[in-house]
Amino acid sequence: MNCPHCNYHDSRVIDSRDVNDGIRRRRQFLSCGSRFTTYERLHSAVLFVIKKDERREEFSRDKLLVGIRKACDKRPLPTGTVDKLVDNIEAELNRLSKPEIPSAAIGDMVMEGLKNLDYIAYIRFASVYREFTDITKLKQEVDTLVSNKETTSPPAGQLPLLPAEASGTVAKRRQRSQR
Ligand SMILES: [Zn+2]
Repeated sequence: MNCPHCNYHDSRVIDSRDVNDGIRRRRQFLSCGSRFTTYERLHSAVLFVIKKDERREEFSRDKLLVGIRKACDKRPLPTGTVDKLVDNIEAELNRLSKPEIPSAAIGDMVMEGLKNLDYIAYIRFASVYREFTDITKLKQEVDTLVSNKETTSPPAGQLPLLPAEASGTVAKRRQRSQR
């Protein structure tokens, strides 16, 4: 490995720790003192992705990263969010330890991850990956998303969030009891 600044190749490890399925190392070049990070990952048996037309293509972390980055472009996500999502998907794929996997299965993993991160990114990714050819299909996806969101909202019977709403109810009740 050569330093991007001075091109010198000798570096020393100043810190190393386990992350997900790999090791993260902090290194420092002996020549100029600039620091950088390397990741070491177990490269298990090659995974092939089954494309829609049945062609097989070697799984590429970079390709996955680019696709998700595109969907998350200019979204208010903390630095490293996308890398972490890709890390998780890669770890999941390793756990499955299959020789090949349909691209749709990986797409679903991305969708699931994005759903919890950012709705706009989710819709962007879905529109490319699910190949929305007409607006109706896109609308269906958004509707599903919204109805899922509603079912996960706090159960009924909780105190109203808006104080005005609460006092209004009380006022109405008082009016009724006065009659
Ligand atoms: Zn250097």
